Amino acid sequence: MRSERRLPAEPLRLDRLIRAGAIHSMTGDTYRSVGLRGAEIAAVSPEPHGLDDLAGSGTLVVDGGDLTLLPAFADSHEHLKEASHNTLLVPVQQAHSITEFTSMVADAARAAAPGSWVLTSMAWHESNLAENRLPTIAELDAAGAGHPVLARRGGHFAIANTAALTASGIGPGTADPPGGKIGHLPDGRPDGTLEGGAVWKVFGFAPPPAQAELVEGLARGSAAYAALGVGTIREAMINLDEFLAYQAAADQGKLSVRARPMIQVGNELTQDQAIALVDGLGARSGFGDDWLRIWGLKFVLDGGVEGGALEQPYANDPANSGHLNWDPAVMTRVCIDAVRRGWRIGTHAAGDRAVRTLLDVYEAVVAQTGPLPPWTLVIEHALLSDPAQRERAVKGGFGVTVQHSLLWNMGSEMLQTWGPDRTRQVNPIDEWLALGASLAAGTDLARPFNPMTNVWGMATRGTKAAGIQGPEHAIPVATALGLYTMGTAALNHEQDRAGSIAPGKLADLIAYRTDPLTADLDDLAELTPVFTIVGGRAMHDPGGLLGS
Ligand SMILES: [Zn+2]
Repeated sequence: MRSERRLPAEPLRLDRLIRAGAIHSMTGDTYRSVGLRGAEIAAVSPEPHGLDDLAGSGTLVVDGGDLTLLPAFADSHEHLKEASHNTLLVPVQQAHSITEFTSMVADAARAAAPGSWVLTSMAWHESNLAENRLPTIAELDAAGAGHPVLARRGGHFAIANTAALTASGIGPGTADPPGGKIGHLPDGRPDGTLEGGAVWKVFGFAPPPAQAELVEGLARGSAAYAALGVGTIREAMINLDEFLAYQAAADQGKLSVRARPMIQVGNELTQDQAIALVDGLGARSGFGDDWLRIWGLKFVLDGGVEGGALEQPYANDPANSGHLNWDPAVMTRVCIDAVRRGWRIGTHAAGDRAVRTLLDVYEAVVAQTGPLPPWTLVIEHALLSDPAQRERAVKGGFGVTVQHSLLWNMGSEMLQTWGPDRTRQVNPIDEWLALGASLAAGTDLARPFNPMTNVWGMATRGTKAAGIQGPEHAIPVATALGLYTMGTAALNHEQDRAGSIAPGKLADLIAYRTDPLTADLDDLAELTPVFTIVGGRAMHDPGGLLGS
């Protein structure tokens, strides 16, 4: 009763009042206090005590003179569904050797129902194994003890055992699927490695998790991202069943971060099937609410580090220059239909040949539809691009999502497959910005990753295991933070609702004990938030500063 009376009589009474050493709005202002009410920011002040008259007996006051507040990170391209699904799978990312890897698989196989699939998390990499190699098909056959085993590694690569290949109809004579590659042993038998479309050919036979399981996964997964300071994730690829799981998770209040999903238009579809899928969606970009809002459609035009479509051959394989997954003419027609129905489109284009082809497609779309609002047609990654391509993208108004974290994570593989010159040119954010490009920062690692490590990487060009790559492309910390907050808000068409600390915006805030804008760069890489607030709710507050 008390709160019911209090609110109408005193409409500006704050739920939370936070005083801090610095509150960086990310639009140029620095404040010392911020007041939250409901899901929104109600007031800001340059004075620590400037909002005291808005506090009442029901206001929780945080006196954080040693804290620096920022808007929560908004990841422009991350696979929250995959990361959440991973929490349900064999956690081989924790293995330090092939033996540990295979014994985790063997334990899971023993616990699994007869004949059922054993799937590993995709958040592992052989460079974290002492042997620095992939497990072999023979090792996975032994560990799986008759169960089909599929170990996806990232979004474009996997290794399967013989039972999984057999269950998927893959044998010695099986041709590579469109946009994919089945690896072979010297004697011609499959070696279990699967790239691009070949991953999906096998993964499609593994039963998906039940919706209730995925909802639990999303609860766990999204909480792990919030704990690292993430408030919003543009979910980079789901199908319609997975969208239902998102909706259930949102309805049940189980999402700790906001989600902006992209619905996959698979390249296995014919033109007619793809258009039928889009026409049958019965919605368009922007549908939803502050927690769950459809961003748009997702196309995948080429592979990753092992299959990206390059202008020049791979450094380690002169016969290979990667693959394109779509016929550009078909993709153009599908995109025109989608844009006319109100859809935004994001397309994975990793290699420079894919970027050039995508520019052809997008320019052809705009020629038919006329000018489109910013961030309608988006290039995802553009890991490699040349100056002419970058100019075309800017001129066409095609925004780009950039992920330094991919260079951070896979710099060693890029050195091997693309060579040193191309590796140091990966994601030259400085050059894009110099041309006036619209950029939004994110991760694409399909696992919770400290955004501050990514900021450190953008500001240093540092990587996990490949040293500094292309230091000339480093950008200031403030710029990196801007791309990770306001940049993604613009990408999500929410620049008036999110991305900065201002009255009327969503109360998505994070706090650090060190000011990232003045800290030593080297102190940024490991910096983690002391709390994360999303929509006014404490999503991460291990120290109990927010009374949670
Ligand atoms: Zn992705």
